[in-house]
Amino acid sequence: MKPARFDYACPGTLGGALALLAEQGPEASILAGGQSLMPMLNLRMARPALLVDINRIPGLDAITLLDGVLTIGARARHADVLTSPLVQQAAPLLIQALHHVAHPAIRNRGTLGGSLALADPAAEMPACVTCLGATLVLASASGERRVPAASFFLGVYATALEHGEMILRVEIPAIRPGWIHAFLEVSRRHGDYAMAGLALAIRRDGAHVAEASIALCGVESATRRQTEAEAALVARGVDAACDRFAHLDAMGGAEITAAHRIHLARVLLRRAVGAQD
Ligand SMILES: Cc1cc2nc3c(=O)[nH]c(=O)nc-3n(C[C@H](O)[C@H](O)[C@H](O)COP(=O)(O)OP(=O)(O)OC[C@H]3O[C@@H](n4cnc5c(N)ncnc54)[C@H](O)[C@@H]3O)c2cc1C
Repeated sequence: MKPARFDYACPGTLGGALALLAEQGPEASILAGGQSLMPMLNLRMARPALLVDINRIPGLDAITLLDGVLTIGARARHADVLTSPLVQQAAPLLIQALHHVAHPAIRNRGTLGGSLALADPAAEMPACVTCLGATLVLASASGERRVPAASFFLGVYATALEHGEMILRVEIPAIRPGWIHAFLEVSRRHGDYAMAGLALAIRRDGAHVAEASIALCGVESATRRQTEAEAALVARGVDAACDRFAHLDAMGGAEITAAHRIHLARVLLRRAVGAQD
């Protein structure tokens, strides 16, 4: 199929893009890597009147590490994040997870901002930024606002983004001494979206897990911190944390049941914690 008719703009400045987004409101869509938007246009699942291409705006793909904060521009391509020494140093979880995101051709175009804005519940990046306590910096014609990743993802393809807003950058606290990151997932074929995925950051005190942060993908419809499982892991260990997954509001479906997703989440948590023993 071909997309419905749309106008196209490719502003060379952030101000120009934000002005167009403000003018057009819900009629405008941002075009980043196009890896999800173009199929959605072709299938006529999206019918924007205007595409605002952000690929010519300078600086939107910058990756920096300053004062313990890793900042990744919204238009940073998955392939560039995957090979960045700064990301490897400050947020190894992202590197581990990006190996599971699609295939090289898609990673060459797909962007971090596009992945977060899309909010596919099976996507890896929303779980990672949530687990790492990141902050999303959003911009509109009326200024910037900061939204913690933990309250950005509202459901399937639903986020806290308002009309006229775009993701500008993501700020991630750099990994601290003593912390370990692990990302594991199960999918039908390598590169497919996750049937269940687990992002984990833990700090051990001897054999005991002293602090933990957990987020899942492919299990619940909205990515969130698994605070109950985190508390159980610290207080009573991995069996207790797995028990807390019984309360997950897991997605069902023709191909995989909610109970099976919960089973996979438990397997992944045991493997991830066990691998750090
Ligand atoms: C075959 C295939 C397999 C894939 N497998 C996976 C996978 O296993 N895991 C995974 O996580 N992803 C997967 N993807 C998705 C891919 O990783 C991209 O990250 C994703 O398509 C979105 O990034 P994009 O830059 O292409 O965004 P686009 O397609 O350009 O945009 C996606 C949406 O985000 C909006 N948007 C884009 N940038 C911004 C911004 N800065 N601010 C606000 N809104 C914005 C757009 O308006 C649009 O609604 C797959 C894609 C394909 C085609």
